[in-house]
Amino acid sequence: VADLALAVDVGGTKMAAALVHPDGTVATHHTIATPHDDTESTWHALEDLLRQVAGNQALAGVGIGSAGPADHSAGSVSPVNIPVWRDFPLVARISELFPGTRASLAGDGICAAAGEHWLGAGRGHDDLLVMVVSTGVGGGLVQNGRLVQGPTGNAGHIGHMVVDFGGVPCACGGRGCVEAYASGPSMVRWAREQGWPGRTAVELAAAGRGGDSVALGAFARAGHALAAGIVSTAAICDLSRAVIGGGVSEAADLLLPAIQAGLKAHGRLGFLREISLATAALGGRAGLLGAAALVLHPERYL
Ligand SMILES: [Zn+2]
Repeated sequence: VADLALAVDVGGTKMAAALVHPDGTVATHHTIATPHDDTESTWHALEDLLRQVAGNQALAGVGIGSAGPADHSAGSVSPVNIPVWRDFPLVARISELFPGTRASLAGDGICAAAGEHWLGAGRGHDDLLVMVVSTGVGGGLVQNGRLVQGPTGNAGHIGHMVVDFGGVPCACGGRGCVEAYASGPSMVRWAREQGWPGRTAVELAAAGRGGDSVALGAFARAGHALAAGIVSTAAICDLSRAVIGGGVSEAADLLLPAIQAGLKAHGRLGFLREISLATAALGGRAGLLGAAALVLHPERYL
């Protein structure tokens, strides 16, 4: 009986694939830089990666996590950070490579949530919000021990929860979204508007650790927005835990206290005061393991 999942993680910077056992052990794992020349060369690079990692193994299925947006009914993706793929039929292409094997697609934030719930910092929490704070802010939601995808596959996308009515413009075209305050580029943009001379979120974290008041202000502002998103989600979903992952969470020493302060300010009702906050445990592997979970534990993650 085939019990190995082929897990795929498609992002604008890199693409990864792995063979994963039902207990989460990774058998084979390989990563390549994402080529951006044209539609087909990007696909052929992924195709080669998948053939190489899958080898001759019999597969229980293929789990695909992709940067969004995706059209789940069509099985296609249009990743913001892969401009040569627009309405690219990723599920059909991968299914052609592995005939007779089911291929399942979910957004990268949702896969990260599945991974952290299955094997990471969300384990044992049936009502969980996972946030991926990076160049954007994504996320995923677990309710009653089951991953929530929603009809379009975008449930739990906390980055575009509005936390400031009439607030600053967001990349999505709206205003006041969590992402407009808490993504790495949003934090850097705000700090530069206040006169901070640096360029990157990594520099911003270093400045904050050195006591720079603008850098600390950027983290406080991001933490406040994330906390407002967590508390608002918890008010609807009765969460027991929130997990913060993504590149910006590497500055957890600055970000977590800022979120805690925001949780204290906004979470006044008893059930909102008891949300535990944790940093993600799986790092860059959360999405890949979550993609595997779609295949290996569909009763919880599909
Ligand atoms: Zn937005």
